[in-house]
Amino acid sequence: MVKETHFQLLCPVCRQEVDYCTSPPNVTVRHLIEALKKINEEQNGTESCPHHHNPLSLYCEQDQEIICGLCGTIGDHRQHQITPLSSVYSRMKEEMSALITEVQRERKNLEEHICKLVNNKTRITNESDVFQRLIHKEFRELHRYIAEEESHFLELVATKVADIFISLEAQLQNKNEILNTVQKRERDLENLGNENHLQFIRVRTLFAPSSQIPLPGCADASYSAVSFQPGFRQDDIKHTVWKRLQRHILPAPEILKLDPVTAHPLLELSKGDTIVQCRSLASRRGSSPECFDYSSCVLATRGFSTGKHYWEVIVGTKTKWRIGVVKGTISRKGKMIRTPEAGAWLIGLKEGRIYEAFTTPSVCLPIISRPHKIGIFLDYEKGELTFYNADCPDELISLYTFQTEFQGKLYPVLDVCWQERGSQPQPLILPQA
Ligand SMILES: [Zn+2]
Ligand SMILES: [Zn+2]
Repeated sequence: MVKETHFQLLCPVCRQEVDYCTSPPNVTVRHLIEALKKINEEQNGTESCPHHHNPLSLYCEQDQEIICGLCGTIGDHRQHQITPLSSVYSRMKEEMSALITEVQRERKNLEEHICKLVNNKTRITNESDVFQRLIHKEFRELHRYIAEEESHFLELVATKVADIFISLEAQLQNKNEILNTVQKRERDLENLGNENHLQFIRVRTLFAPSSQIPLPGCADASYSAVSFQPGFRQDDIKHTVWKRLQRHILPAPEILKLDPVTAHPLLELSKGDTIVQCRSLASRRGSSPECFDYSSCVLATRGFSTGKHYWEVIVGTKTKWRIGVVKGTISRKGKMIRTPEAGAWLIGLKEGRIYEAFTTPSVCLPIISRPHKIGIFLDYEKGELTFYNADCPDELISLYTFQTEFQGKLYPVLDVCWQERGSQPQPLILPQA
């Protein structure tokens, strides 16, 4: 009966009889513990082979698979190349660190590259800023030139108008004076009309001769209109300004001097080495290693190996001359070869009428204007040497342009050319202002 009254208690999860004396098992906790144990085993790398239930401790190099000892001896990986997991692990670790180093190097390279790009961007910004400022400066100058030209033209008009007004004012004053006289006479005559008979006849007789006298200025009563003539046409304005602007484009003339050391012994320099001409045979100078011993040449003291330079040479009415630039290294001994290939870029005049450029072969220049002053413009980097007729300060007329690639230092050269026997020596002059 006691046994009957002792009723059975069963676990609701596993249906096992529950012993009153011990605490009932907690199945949920047990499952939890088992799951944790499994995870722990996996983390400790004690996974076992699914085929042989041995710990996975080897690596098959051929199949790149983790295997157990039995896989390698009796399983699928017999006679494959097998390596212990620990060596594979350290090998792969090494490979990994090499890979990391390589990636790091790549990252550093990229960072440097990016840094350079950023710097480049900054540099470009700065450079373009500078250039923009230069553009502003150039245009300020151009605007100034244009404004100057504008006021120059307006001044011309104002001066003309003032002149015409002075003349018109004089005429007005003159006519007004005459008008006053005429008005006075008119009044006198009218007053006379009011006199009585006797008085009228007396005065009229008295007046008679003078009334016949013509008043000054009355005779040329014909009016001729004066029209406004500014001295230039509207069409000329742009062209004139353009020609003057062209002069502004060139740098200011360089003040050059001649180098006596380079002059042929029969050349005479004067006025502080700014004028050169042939001297009489009697007064030959001693020659130097740097002087021309055959050609009648002399160089300027200054040479140019960069930049833009403009200078002028007065050739006057000289009938024979050659000017231009030569390389500093050109041979000073013997006859100078006058070609660009030999390092000489020259133009010249002969027989007082034939202008030529010393190219290979030399060419005749169609110059009719007979310039007295020649302007020479060297743009070293552009490889251009241009000769101008510089007689008119406002307008340079291009005579000839050499185009080449310059190398080394170039010196302005004056070749006075030996004159004909008995003719008066005429100089070449470097203007000093
Ligand atoms: Zn196995
Ligand atoms: Zn294998």
